[in-house]
Amino acid sequence: MTGRGGTAPAARPPQRATAPTDAVVLRRSDFRESSRIVTCLTRDQGRVTALAKGAHRADSTFLGRIDFLNELRATFGPDRGGLRLFVRADLVRERRGLRAPRRFLAASHLAQLCEFAMPDERPEPRVFELLVGGLALLERCPDPALAHVLLGLELRHLAAIGALPDLDHCAGCGTPLGEVAFRNEGDLGLYCRRHAGAPRQPIGAGSLALLRELHRLPGREWPQLAATSPARLAAPLPALWLAAATEQRSRLRALFFEQD
Ligand SMILES: [Zn+2]
Repeated sequence: MTGRGGTAPAARPPQRATAPTDAVVLRRSDFRESSRIVTCLTRDQGRVTALAKGAHRADSTFLGRIDFLNELRATFGPDRGGLRLFVRADLVRERRGLRAPRRFLAASHLAQLCEFAMPDERPEPRVFELLVGGLALLERCPDPALAHVLLGLELRHLAAIGALPDLDHCAGCGTPLGEVAFRNEGDLGLYCRRHAGAPRQPIGAGSLALLRELHRLPGREWPQLAATSPARLAAPLPALWLAAATEQRSRLRALFFEQD
C-alpha cells in the first residue's frame, strides 16, 4: 500500500487501470483484418470493451483464450475515454461442459442478466461472483437440476439488483405469509388473503416453497431440490420479476438520456 506518511490517498492511482483483473468473456467481434473487439465482465473494472490487436494472427497470444464464457486474468490499457487496449489475456478456465446446448442456453441467459447489472468501468463484485459461481454450477449440476439451478441464479440476480420481492411477508401489511400467497395485477409483491385484489390470483404452494428454498439454500444444494419440486411451475414468477426489473432499468436509462 502507498499513501503512508500522512498524505491523503490518491483518488485513483493511474496504474490501477492496467492492473490485471479476473474477467469473463462475453462477446467479441472482428475489427479490421486481424483484430477483435472483446467485451468482458471483470471483477475490478465492471464491463470492459477492448481492442485485441492482431487476435486473428496465427501467432497471437489471444488465440483460444478470448472465447465466450472463458475466465481470464485480463490486463487492459488505461481508460482514456475511447476504446481500451486489451493488453494481455491469461486463460484461467474454459468451461467445456457449458457447450452442451441446454447448458449453453442457461449460461448465456445468466451472462446476459449479469451484463445488464454491470455498468461500464464500474465494479460490481457481487454480480461478478454470481456470474463465475453460476457458470460453475451450470457446468457441473446434473441434467435434471439445470432448471432449478437457473431459477436459483435468477433469484440471486434479482436480490443483487434489489428487485427480489419479499417471499415471506405480505407486501401490503407485512404479516408472515405462510403457505398461502397471492399476486396482484400490475404489482410484483406477494400478498396475504386480505390484501389480495379481486380476482384473487393464488400462487401455488409448491412454487412458493421451491422459490423460498432456492433463496435460502446455498447454490451447491439447489440440485437436491430437483427430486421433490418441479421447476416448471415456479418459473413464471421470476420471469415476471426479471421483466419488470429490466423494463424499469431501461426506463431510467431513457430518462437519463432525455436530459443529456
Ligand atoms: Zn396483507
